[in-house]
Amino acid sequence: MNKQFIITVLVSLFSVNAAAVTVHLDVSETPELAEWGKQAKELVEQWYQRTVNLMPTEGFLAPSEIKLKIKKADGGVAWTVGPNITVASSWAEKHPEDIGCVYHEMVHVIQSYKGYTSAKAPGWLVEGIADYMRWAIYEGKPQKWFPPVNKPQGYKTGYQVTGGFLLWLESGQCPGIVKKLNTAIRKGTYEDELFEKEAGKPLDALWVDYLKARKTPPKDNKKKV
Ligand SMILES: [Zn+2]
Repeated sequence: MNKQFIITVLVSLFSVNAAAVTVHLDVSETPELAEWGKQAKELVEQWYQRTVNLMPTEGFLAPSEIKLKIKKADGGVAWTVGPNITVASSWAEKHPEDIGCVYHEMVHVIQSYKGYTSAKAPGWLVEGIADYMRWAIYEGKPQKWFPPVNKPQGYKTGYQVTGGFLLWLESGQCPGIVKKLNTAIRKGTYEDELFEKEAGKPLDALWVDYLKARKTPPKDNKKKV
């Protein structure tokens, strides 16, 4: 190895490891969950920049500081306001394996959408994108893992149901659509028609196609001759 090569390797290693985000962990109310909090903090540190990179918008800069608080609370799971993530202690205690809920909240920080549950940032899609990122990208779940909801406009269910629909679109019908939806919501230009523009069919019709694709093949009841 020559010197120049070694320097190049060192420089690239340094840039990969450079912290893209500073996470301020607060377990002051829940010292018994300090270890869980530390793991959650590491998850954000490891996944933040690569997730930001998967959700780019020209001119957009994701927050560089996140507050992660494990709050003494008896109900709820986790919630995010701006760059502040809060996890309820009761959830972390009862579901210590569900560290990925922090990934979902981290996606909300990255989304940085203004407004929520408005027509320009419909709640089902905001949560569907966060769950697509968590379950399909971070957890690596296959299509069959995602629960379909067999009803018209079932995509409005949000979370894992919408996440599965987005995975199906990304996997064949319309690769790259999540990036486009994300950018449109960020810019406040989202409309349901964006699905038709990108995927060639209205949203409701795409959902029908999705359900067809997810249906188990009908059983052959005819006697074999
Ligand atoms: Zn959420």
